[in-house]
Amino acid sequence: MAADILALAAPGVRDLQPYQPGKSIEELEYEYGIRDAVKLASNENPLGASPRAITAARETLNDAMRYPDGNGSYLKTALASKLGIATNQITLGNGSNDILELVTRAFVSPDNEVIYSEHAFAVYPIVTRAVGACAVVTKARNWGHDLQAMRKSVTARTRVVFIANPNNPTGTWLPVDELEEFISGLPDHVLIVVDEAYFEYVQESGYSDTVKWVGRFPNLLVTRTFSKIHGLAGLRIGYGIAGPALTDVLNRVRQPFNVNSLALAAARAALDDQRHVERSMQLNRDGMRQLTEAFDAMGLGYIPSAGNFVCLDMGSPAGPVYQALLIHGVIVRPVANYGMPNHLRVTVGLPEENGRFIGALKKILGEG
Ligand code: PMP
Repeated sequence: MAADILALAAPGVRDLQPYQPGKSIEELEYEYGIRDAVKLASNENPLGASPRAITAARETLNDAMRYPDGNGSYLKTALASKLGIATNQITLGNGSNDILELVTRAFVSPDNEVIYSEHAFAVYPIVTRAVGACAVVTKARNWGHDLQAMRKSVTARTRVVFIANPNNPTGTWLPVDELEEFISGLPDHVLIVVDEAYFEYVQESGYSDTVKWVGRFPNLLVTRTFSKIHGLAGLRIGYGIAGPALTDVLNRVRQPFNVNSLALAAARAALDDQRHVERSMQLNRDGMRQLTEAFDAMGLGYIPSAGNFVCLDMGSPAGPVYQALLIHGVIVRPVANYGMPNHLRVTVGLPEENGRFIGALKKILGEG
């Protein structure tokens, strides 16, 4: 009889569903025979990466036979000086997802609990269940994190609390004073991970720069990425910032060469291109206005977002609109798997891409 392989999987892994990425342009073009598809589904930077980052990666290709610098020394030094911290407070990851996984692998046992919010980023359940721990999911408040509910859920078994700020897919964010009070009030046996993948996009006043707290809170880990505003999602590089003790533990479980040499070189160059970051911010601000003004004009609700994406409320299950958009060559992201069946998440694109999406949506809703 054939072995039941699934039954052999670790208990937490058995009921896991794989992460569902956005549909790729290639897939859509192949399935529907569409030529000029637009992808607004994975919160990527529509401007691409800084040309300096591309050049740096290209030059590094010549050394592809060499292992990368396992310590990422040049990049860590550049990050440390930019952020005003020491290099022994930085952990580099194969995307910031890698850091989210490292922290659970290093600190969380099957008898621990991990707290995160309803509608929070999909990787938290994956990394929690993968180590066999118990996931404690708190109810959202106005689509965002309810810090009081999260605080009340802390027990002697809690080891990690995940907070996405801003959160994906909702775009909600937390004011600095509330977050500071929450972190100060956590007992010593609880680590707090503040996931700031969209940090650079946030314009709202009262948003926190949590990195400045890592000296004060030895149980705080902040994660950031080069995938979003720096436009390097395909190269996979992100980082964690924490006190030296927490960083040391993460490094004990990290794979020796978890970040590749192209990513290290590109990220280092991207950090130096502040103009590219500013152009990307401006494009996002304008694009967010273009999208939300169109939603307002069409009488559609949405969740105000601090990121480079926005969740649009279709008022009824959004699956048919998602499918109809595909036929118009526009890929957005359904978020039913986040407990949001009526919403579609749209990434802010170039003005013409946003226009394609708005035009298709109008046609589908009978307004075009
Ligand atoms: N955190 C959040 C909130 C995200 O939305 C993402 C990307 N979807 C990540 C972390 C991980 O991104 P990466 O691994 O590319 O750094």
